[in-house]
Amino acid sequence: MQASTPRTERQGREQEGIVYKTQCQNPGCGHTFALRITPRDVGLLSGTMPCPRCKRHGGMLKPAGRIGDKLFAAKLIFKAVGVSSSLASSVPTEEGDLVSDMMGSGF
Ligand SMILES: [Zn+2]
Repeated sequence: MQASTPRTERQGREQEGIVYKTQCQNPGCGHTFALRITPRDVGLLSGTMPCPRCKRHGGMLKPAGRIGDKLFAAKLIFKAVGVSSSLASSVPTEEGDLVSDMMGSGF
């Protein structure tokens, strides 16, 4: 008699880190992707990253609650650019510092 139970080979090889189910908040995008954060990647949580779909830079990962075991929801939020530009023009913005912080690439 044959036992045809599919064997799961999960033993001893647990995935490292946690997964953020991240939704891009860029208007018109809304792409959802799974972002795995390992102890090596925690810098992502305090920095910025581009959306893998719309490629918009400067997205900040904002945790939005726990979904399950090692699974969290998060949103990739972007600073409103252009909306308050008329207001900001009279005030020195912090953008310069932020951009130069991000290796001063041609933004
Ligand atoms: Zn996007």
